[in-house]
Amino acid sequence: MNKMVLVLNCGSSSIKFAIIEAATGDAALSGLAESLGNDDAKLTIKVNGEKKACPIDANATHQQALNAIELALEAYQELQNSLVAVGHRVVHGGETFTQSVLINDDVKSAIRETAHMAPLHNPANLSGIESAEAAFPNLPHVAVFDTAFFQTMPKHAYLYALPYELYQKHGIRRYGFHGSSHYFVSHKAAEMLSKPYEQCNLITAHLGNGCSIASIHQGRAVDTSLGFTPLEGLVMGTRCGDIDPSLPTFLIEQLGYSEKAVTAMLNKESGLLGISQLSNDCRTLEEQAEQGHELANLALTIFSYRLAKYIGSYLVSAGPLDALVFTGGIGENSDRLRADTLKYLSHLGFAVDADKNTAMRFGQSGPIHQEGSHNTLVIATNEEWVIAQDAMQYV
Ligand code: AMP
Repeated sequence: MNKMVLVLNCGSSSIKFAIIEAATGDAALSGLAESLGNDDAKLTIKVNGEKKACPIDANATHQQALNAIELALEAYQELQNSLVAVGHRVVHGGETFTQSVLINDDVKSAIRETAHMAPLHNPANLSGIESAEAAFPNLPHVAVFDTAFFQTMPKHAYLYALPYELYQKHGIRRYGFHGSSHYFVSHKAAEMLSKPYEQCNLITAHLGNGCSIASIHQGRAVDTSLGFTPLEGLVMGTRCGDIDPSLPTFLIEQLGYSEKAVTAMLNKESGLLGISQLSNDCRTLEEQAEQGHELANLALTIFSYRLAKYIGSYLVSAGPLDALVFTGGIGENSDRLRADTLKYLSHLGFAVDADKNTAMRFGQSGPIHQEGSHNTLVIATNEEWVIAQDAMQYV
């Protein structure tokens, strides 16, 4: 049996997991425990393309969900026996972690100390680590940080123009997230371009429910749109991205919103959902926009305009561009949003080939540009494989 890695991604109310073949990145099994803490908590496992519901308690906590996952995995003894490591996605590694590490007590303390910067994610990641350590005590457990890929950013890119002591005393700076995805697609792009990674200048756009864009100069990340928290930058499914920083105080002081309500608004009620008043799901918005839903259309237009602005500005730090890359659920599938974005950039040397753009969906990877324009690639991301490969370093 080939060597397998269990990859765990514990979110604030969900746990994504997969058993990944270390050599190929193929998922032998994947699953999702969702709506944790709610009475409609559910657990599904997918093997050989077939989805199956598994037992889980209503209102299950992360700990209970991990127990349910462990129980469900017992039905796949052969896969379990071929596990050689567990890779944990950890959202925030602060400035402490510039690469993946074997988990020990010091690492857990450091993840705990960073929790104030990712209060929805790091505690969930930590509880996932502790439960998985109990379930698989004989395997190496490796933490792979979303922020690590961006630790190469220069100070002039990661600092806010705020009093410097906020950075010195409290670590307030831009960190970047989705590192594993940007890492994967940027290396894949270098491969597709047949160019050494260290010589590549790339702009990678990870567009899913969360969205971020990265600028990579000579194989090093030099800028990215997510900042101190995963709220800055692009328009996302429910997150607002960039806004005037004085808006939250205006909402609180002038309009009487509570701080909690503002935080919820910016994180959960804004973005595509907030503008469209309909959905955070790009597919739904595209369907409705086709049928004349004005706000759905407006939400998609704001999304692509903001993205195009970022791409234009990242031409500064990326340098002479080797390729622009689209990935993530939207980046890999929405030919409309890709075409709209590139249209805004036509005077900067980008031009989409309509047929290639339509063909490049549903897991296909390849170019979508017209000859003579900037290389523009769609690449299906595989964050789980990055995590599995990092975990394999400690086997
Ligand atoms: P992710 O977070 O990477 O899973 O991406 C989720 C987003 O991808 C959602 O907004 C989906 O609507 C979007 N998405 C998935 N498939 C398609 C598709 N065929 N066309 C447009 N958007 C899609």
